[in-house]
Amino acid sequence: VKSKRETMEKIAALIRRSASAAVLCHMHPDGDALGSMLGLALALERLGKRVHRVSPDGVPPPYDFLPGSRAVRRRLPRDLPPLAIVVDCDGLARLGPLARRTGQVAHVVAIDHHATGKAFGALRWVDPSAAAVGALLSELVAALGVPFDREIATCLYTAILTDTGRFSYTNTTARALRIAARLVQAGADPGAIYQQVYETKSLAQAALLGAALSRLSTADEGRIVLSALTRADFAATGANDSDTEGIIDQIRAVRQAEVAVLLVERGGEVRCSMRSRGRADVARVAEALGGGGHPQAAGCTVAGPLARARKQAIRLIAAELGPRA
Ligand code: AMP
Ligand code: MN
Ligand code: MN
Repeated sequence: VKSKRETMEKIAALIRRSASAAVLCHMHPDGDALGSMLGLALALERLGKRVHRVSPDGVPPPYDFLPGSRAVRRRLPRDLPPLAIVVDCDGLARLGPLARRTGQVAHVVAIDHHATGKAFGALRWVDPSAAAVGALLSELVAALGVPFDREIATCLYTAILTDTGRFSYTNTTARALRIAARLVQAGADPGAIYQQVYETKSLAQAALLGAALSRLSTADEGRIVLSALTRADFAATGANDSDTEGIIDQIRAVRQAEVAVLLVERGGEVRCSMRSRGRADVARVAEALGGGGHPQAAGCTVAGPLARARKQAIRLIAAELGPRA
C-alpha cells in the first residue's frame, strides 16, 4: 500500500513539473479508457497544462457525450510532449499504431488495473484491486489538489460505471462505491450518465443485439454460452464494429452460463470477448490467445476463420472451468 502511494506521489510530482502531456487510451476504447483519459486530461488542464487527448480509434458513440471528447485526436502531435500518461492499457501494444512513437516520449507513465500484460513505462501504477482506472485517477486528482467538478466527476463516474458492468461485477466493492458516491457528490448525474451510455442505442445496434441473441449456442454441457457476428450481420443491420459493446453482458445473463463468449468477425481475424460468472478466470484464457483482461472480463483477437476461433476458445475455457462439480 505504501509503495502504491509513493508511486502515485511520484506521478503527481512528474505531472506538476511538466508543462504539457499526452494522455492516451487503448484501441476499441470502452468507458473506462475514455472516461479515464478525458477525466485526467481535464484535471491536468485545471493545473494549467497543455494536454493532448489521444485515442487510436477516436471516440465512438455512446461516449461522445463525455466532456472534452471533441478535443480527442487519433494521433500524437508532431512535436512529442515530454510526458505521456497511458491509461487502462496492459501493454504498449494496446495503443496499436501509436505504440512506437509513444515509446519515444521522454517520460512514459502507465496507470492501469489489469493483472495481465507486458510491463512498459518508467513509472507504473498498476493496481488490479481497483475496479477501474477511473477509481485510481480519483485518488490522483485529489493528490494533485484539483477539486472535483461536474465535468471531471462525469468522466470518472462513467469509467467506474462501465468497468463494473453497471455496478454488477465482483469488482463492485465498497471502495468503488465510495469513490462513485464522492463523484456523484461532485456533480456526476447517475441517471443522466446511465441514459447516455446504455439507452442511446441506434436501431442498427438493437438489430445487431437481436442477431447475436437469435443465434446463441452452448458448449461444455451448457456451461459456455456463445454467439458470433459475421460481416453479413453487420451488412444486414447497418451496424459498425463499436456497436457490439454490451452484447456480451446480455449473453452472460443466461442462467447456466459460467462463461459467455462473443466472437466478432473482423477482416480475417476474430475478436473474442469473454465474461465469467466467477468460476473460470477468463483473463488466463485471453492471455493464452495473445490478449488479456480481468478474471471476469477479458478479450483477445485471434486468427480466423470463425469456426476455428470458436473451437479454440471452447477448448481453453472448458479446460479452465475444469471437470463439473
Ligand atoms: P471487452 O470484451 O472488449 O469488453 O474486453 C474485456 C476486458 O478485456 C477489458 O478489460 C479489456 O481491457 C480487456 N481486453 C480486451 N481485449 C484485449 C486484448 N487484446 N489485450 C489485452 N486486454 C484486452
Ligand atoms: Mn478498457
Ligand atoms: Mn479498465
